[in-house]
Amino acid sequence: MLRRISERIGRHRIFLITAHERLDGDALGSELALCHMLRNLGKEATIYNQDRTPGNYLFLPGSDQIVHELPPLDPFEVAFILDCSELDRVGEESARIGTIPNLVNIDHHVSNGGFCDVRLIDPQASSTGELIFRLVRDMGLAVTAEMATCLYTAILTDTGGFRYGNTRRGALLTAADLVAGGADPQWISENVYEADPPARLRLLAAALPTLTLEEGGRVGSLVVTQKALADAGALPEHAEGFVDLPRSIRGVEISILYAELPDGRFKLSLRSKGKVNVERVARTFGGGGHINAAGCRVEGELSEIRRRVIEAIRTSAAEA
Ligand code: 5GP
Ligand code: MN
Repeated sequence: MLRRISERIGRHRIFLITAHERLDGDALGSELALCHMLRNLGKEATIYNQDRTPGNYLFLPGSDQIVHELPPLDPFEVAFILDCSELDRVGEESARIGTIPNLVNIDHHVSNGGFCDVRLIDPQASSTGELIFRLVRDMGLAVTAEMATCLYTAILTDTGGFRYGNTRRGALLTAADLVAGGADPQWISENVYEADPPARLRLLAAALPTLTLEEGGRVGSLVVTQKALADAGALPEHAEGFVDLPRSIRGVEISILYAELPDGRFKLSLRSKGKVNVERVARTFGGGGHINAAGCRVEGELSEIRRRVIEAIRTSAAEA
């Protein structure tokens, strides 16, 4: 598959790169590293994302050139769809992007439906960034310092700072190679984790009193409402990482963040410890992800959603 992807890169000249909505470090780092690689080969590459780049990723080299309006599609020969298990994870423009003649999917989700014929999918990879690194190496190309910064950020953030179950040998070896190639771990983590606006802590202060423990302390959750966002003067991206807090409690195996969306639905982020599978829970609600990190969007009253989630957790535990 790596060969088929490098053939496509060799044969074509104008590329579109995109990733899932609600961008994270893996989506952005992977897009930007691939964009740098293509441009270094003398190709034309454009990154389109539906959503704005969260503030803590604006330090990534090239992030200022990302576009949020889909340009006219005629010139594009190939579209790279990164870190997406399904085409519609791209957002509102997914159907139009799907009309680009050649689609290539690079992803590491267990729930990947195989929507592209040319794809690099490895659920054992820590991140899409690790797969981009594999592609660059396989093509015999240099990893520049800019690319190293982007890819290190991708691996760092998708492994939760080298803590989650996807922190395997490949993630650590790749990270070591990226440091050798010019990525600065301290500078990158200061930018990602220590550059928040005060509004983020105000939002956290509003979220902490919502802490709920259920199922004998095995399930912990927090809620972020639209009102809490408005009162704190915060953006949805500022709730990033809140889902890790209930999980920090001893005995909590599943951690959930219920984040209210502007349309009244709830975006659920699920995290788990050890072998507990939250991907299966997210899938019950039409979402997906990884065994230890998954998400979905659910309609309805919060109390009713919570009830359904606990039910899905029980069913999933019974099937395991
Ligand atoms: P997060 O909770 O950080 O948004 O997402 C955790 C993981 O679940 C990520 O790998 C993300 O791609 C996946 N995920 C989050 N929301 C959805 C969703 O609505 N659908 C699917 N298929 N995956 C999701
Ligand atoms: Mn990812």
